[in-house]
Amino acid sequence: MGLAAAIPQSGTPEFIGVRRALILFGSPGSGKGTQSKFLVERLGIPQISTGDMLREHIQLGDEIGLRVRELMRAGSLVSDELVNKLVEERLKQQDTDRGFILDGYPRTLHQADVMSALLDRLKIGQLVIHLVVDYNVIIARISGRRQCPVCGTLYNATSKPPKVAGVCDLDGSALVIREDDRESVVRERLDAYEQKTRPLLDHFRQAGRKVIEIDASTLKPEGVFERILEQVQA
Ligand code: ADP
Repeated sequence: MGLAAAIPQSGTPEFIGVRRALILFGSPGSGKGTQSKFLVERLGIPQISTGDMLREHIQLGDEIGLRVRELMRAGSLVSDELVNKLVEERLKQQDTDRGFILDGYPRTLHQADVMSALLDRLKIGQLVIHLVVDYNVIIARISGRRQCPVCGTLYNATSKPPKVAGVCDLDGSALVIREDDRESVVRERLDAYEQKTRPLLDHFRQAGRKVIEIDASTLKPEGVFERILEQVQA
């Protein structure tokens, strides 16, 4: 089944209406990438994934790529200054005019402060969607994860296997294991999340931002997506 077919089509297709940032928040393996791709298809707004942007620089082998390669390989966060700049530049592009998804950003208190100032200045509203996932579920998900290096589609050995083992359903490319999905690196990423990123939830709440909690452990991806849409279109 292709991605479009997998996306629940209930409800009227609606745009977000106002320029709004949907901030997908959650630990590595919580499904931010999968939900972002559903939202892109359904709402026609772009996904801004700092992880994807950084991986593109690594593939290009440019100066930014060389600077972040080792940090990412080790599962550590890259500098706030760099990701803040990438996001600010990205928001200058017109395709963000009707709203956009932030996937994997902000990840530190400093990033959150810079982001809020930027969004306030640009008069962009914020909706934080927290995908809540159990630690054991995360480990199981990440260890079975495979990705298409061409279109970015994610597969999972148990929950979302490709039709033909090791091959992307959409474009036939050979699937790969992301370098930072190896077990020791996953631990490092989860540590970074616990120490630097999770505290943002309290920070958002204290700043009066709306934080929507969605159970992303037991619900299937399509169920999680429906809950997100309910909130976005409310
Ligand atoms: P995941 O959410 O599964 O960890 P991502 O693709 O979002 O995967 O991120 C992969 C890596 O990219 C991170 O481990 C980190 O090194 C880097 N990265 C991505 N976004 C940020 C960010 N906002 N701040 C710092 N580092 C980031």
